[in-house]
Amino acid sequence: PGPSAAPGPSAVPGSSAPGAHPATLDAREVSAWFGDHKVLDRVSLTMPARHVTALIGPSGCGKSTFLRILNRMHELVGSASLAGQVLLDGEDIYDRGRRITHARREIGMVFQKPNPFPAMSIYDNVLAGLKMNGVKATRDERDGLVEECLSKAGLWREVADRLRQPGGALSGGQQQRLCIARSLAVRPRVLLMDEPCSALDPTSTRRIEQTIGELSAEVTIVIVTHNMQQAARVSDQCAFFLAEQGTPGVIVEHGSTEAMFDHPQDPRTTDYVQGRF
Ligand code: ADP
Ligand code: MG
Repeated sequence: PGPSAAPGPSAVPGSSAPGAHPATLDAREVSAWFGDHKVLDRVSLTMPARHVTALIGPSGCGKSTFLRILNRMHELVGSASLAGQVLLDGEDIYDRGRRITHARREIGMVFQKPNPFPAMSIYDNVLAGLKMNGVKATRDERDGLVEECLSKAGLWREVADRLRQPGGALSGGQQQRLCIARSLAVRPRVLLMDEPCSALDPTSTRRIEQTIGELSAEVTIVIVTHNMQQAARVSDQCAFFLAEQGTPGVIVEHGSTEAMFDHPQDPRTTDYVQGRF
């Protein structure tokens, strides 16, 4: 089975609606080390297309490391070494010959702290990823893409009349939605979100949760969250990560969100989802 399941052309930003093309992401026996320190031990998880997967678990159990491994971002942030495979619709993103930039374009990332380019205009922020990927687009295509991505991120109505203002002038919640719009502009097939609402107020959080719900039809979403209500509200399935006393992070349990919250199999999952540690 090849990667051919995706309908429509591969990402051509600015083209007329290419249709949804979310991909399934499959982590197989992923282990990771920082030097001698093993931080993930044979983590396997399938993150299906059109699903929202929530990664939950206490601090330090390897969720962010796992997320970065899913789009080869860990290669930027230090010397993590890695075993295992990450398959995007069946194709290993770590295969020799596959470009790192390709993985990052197909698999976008949104971080805890909103990080728009503060001095750059809202308009140019949305398009920043295109430039980095060397994509050429006409003025009309760019205008269309900016409106489309800001709309999908739930920000268009608030900023339509001030697209030339700097991204840094927006509120924190708006900046985060701008970052979502920016990540959508290259038409990723998967969007990874590392605690995207932790720095935001409840109203902004709800807006982003709503956006996640709408986006899941066209991009596979994987979200790390410490907020159990949020996991319950936005996700279809959950994976509970845990690193017990000096041991590397593992997935203790995963399953449908309903099952994880209503009938967890492992007593440690019960304790965690009920807020006992
Ligand atoms: P989480 O996101 O679940 O809080 P992390 O993935 O950030 O967990 O961290 C997992 C483990 O890896 C922790 O023990 C952390 O100290 C270690 N770690 C994370 N990033 C680095 C790094 N760049 N260098 C060395 N150790 C790291
Ligand atoms: Mg983290």
